[in-house]
Amino acid sequence: MNEKQTRREEVKKRKKMEIIPLLVSMLLLMSSEAILTQAQVRLTGTNTASATQGGMRFDREIGLQYSLKVVSDATNFIWQTFRQGAADRKPVNSVGLFIDDIGGVAYTSGNQIHVSAPYIAGYSGDVRREITGILYHETTHVWQWDGKGQAPGWVIEGVADYIRLKAGLAPAHCRKPGEGNSWTDSYDITARFFDYCNGLKDGFVAELNGKMKDGYNDQFFADILGKPLNQLWSDYKAAPRS
Ligand SMILES: [Zn+2]
Repeated sequence: MNEKQTRREEVKKRKKMEIIPLLVSMLLLMSSEAILTQAQVRLTGTNTASATQGGMRFDREIGLQYSLKVVSDATNFIWQTFRQGAADRKPVNSVGLFIDDIGGVAYTSGNQIHVSAPYIAGYSGDVRREITGILYHETTHVWQWDGKGQAPGWVIEGVADYIRLKAGLAPAHCRKPGEGNSWTDSYDITARFFDYCNGLKDGFVAELNGKMKDGYNDQFFADILGKPLNQLWSDYKAAPRS
């Protein structure tokens, strides 16, 4: 957390330094920032890596305006999937998107989404579609309840990949229904399992997320679906696939 904050401070400093002398640098700065206000949420985008290979590829093939539209669309899609009205949503009124010169793929901290510019540089294939899917996943982290910090990682990541899956943006490497060894395998494996659970009861994912507002317990699965997790998993593994 501290490291992140420190890095953000450095980024701010760098930007401030760029603003000062020339009109040219001001134009550059403007082209690396964008704002979009959807009905209830203010979205801001900043490419802090616009001088790097990945940052340049981002500007060329994806762009901040497009990305903020994706975050806006994803936000609406997530509210719908979670069946949330204005009253029971997480109280977030702004989301910041950053394209940064960082390792990994992407991460979300509070209401700030950070995407790796080197990942964009190295991605072979349809990078615009890939980043669109990643933004659906990360935007889910902004809006989902996390059981007041008690929800295990596999639930958090499973729900985020479930949203990505249902938006029709599954990654190329996405596992097929029925794959995996455990519901705790996380990400796409858990997402496929949640899709099965949602098939047993429409609105399951919405209900699970709703319960996670105040805490977390594996018992939630039995509360919603009438069967414990291990039973649901073995039913899922045994289910016929077309
Ligand atoms: Zn995630």
